[in-house]
Amino acid sequence: MTDKLELPACPFIYVSGRKCRGHITGYRLYGGDTLADAKKVRLWCSEKYDHAGAVSSFEAKERMEFYPDKLPKDIFDWLKPPN
Ligand SMILES: [Zn+2]
Repeated sequence: MTDKLELPACPFIYVSGRKCRGHITGYRLYGGDTLADAKKVRLWCSEKYDHAGAVSSFEAKERMEFYPDKLPKDIFDWLKPPN
């Protein structure tokens, strides 16, 4: 285990344009067991979990799910297992 003290900022942006002040605390991979294999990554944040309910559930789902190669770099680096 490596220390993950520096949690990446939540990438969620509200309809108003305000950025979520939470940090990423968890994730789930879909379509594969590793970040390299996964088709999508779903993120959870410290403030609003997966943000379901903040906007329409469809939009919230879209905003907290990323293709691995579309992840913000700090989050990608955080998710990537150390080699
Ligand atoms: Zn958030």
